[in-house]
Amino acid sequence: MKKLFVLSIFALACGAMFAQQPQGQQGQRPQQQPQDVRNDKIGVGMTPTMSEYWSPQPKVVTPGNQATASAPSDAIILFDGTQKSLDDNWVTKNMRTQEVNPAKWTVKDGVMTVNKDMRNGGGDIQTKQEFGSFQLHLEWCVPEMDAKFTSQIRGNSGVYLQNMYEVQILDCYNNETYVNGMTGSLYKQTPPLVNAMRKPGEWQYYDIIYNAPVFNADGTYKVRPYVTVIQNGVVLQNHTEILGTTEYIGFPQVKAHGDGPILLQCHGDPSPSISFRNIWIRKL
Ligand code: MG
Repeated sequence: MKKLFVLSIFALACGAMFAQQPQGQQGQRPQQQPQDVRNDKIGVGMTPTMSEYWSPQPKVVTPGNQATASAPSDAIILFDGTQKSLDDNWVTKNMRTQEVNPAKWTVKDGVMTVNKDMRNGGGDIQTKQEFGSFQLHLEWCVPEMDAKFTSQIRGNSGVYLQNMYEVQILDCYNNETYVNGMTGSLYKQTPPLVNAMRKPGEWQYYDIIYNAPVFNADGTYKVRPYVTVIQNGVVLQNHTEILGTTEYIGFPQVKAHGDGPILLQCHGDPSPSISFRNIWIRKL
């Protein structure tokens, strides 16, 4: 009887211990930290896979035919293909030194393409203008590429809302990855409702409606940020609550901020660069 009691205590202790372990590949969704906890050491001791989960994979939905959306009359045009360079609306900013330089992505045939050559002005680009809540339209295209590029190393980019929260861009057409890192995921937070990808080489459309947060004096959310993401006419995020920053390692953090730029990610992976066109925004 005593032996049975000891074994029961041991089993309960093990259960509690494993229940607290974040699970990575093939695991279920890890527990998120409380949303208003501020803890700069939150990623210490973690590896990237500890905040990734792979199932269930969203079902595949084939998008309908959709003509290119021209900008409405009150939109701010961020790129429409008529520009010879990105100088009017975009810059590159070194996050370490805060140095601002001209954006040097390739502009050709009405399309701009990510420049991954960091020795030649490559890197993320961001809008000169800063925004609060907005409606954003942009179109992007992942080129056809070798099958050796898989998971996150396949057309990876992203749209950062107010330079804080990443809506993922990736080629997820027959390319499995962790679901909270798929196209249309709020990166490492919320997977998309479905997979609405077109094939590589075809243009994808994003419409993003974003409600900016309001902060209390102590830096916690007074009104949380929310995002709706539509890809190719299909809803991927439906007024999704944003828990905090979209960290590669660790869990979301709440950091007070004001208006911010739209940032397009230059991901450091070796797959061929993706392109963008027809980018416009409306303040809300
Ligand atoms: Mg990305």
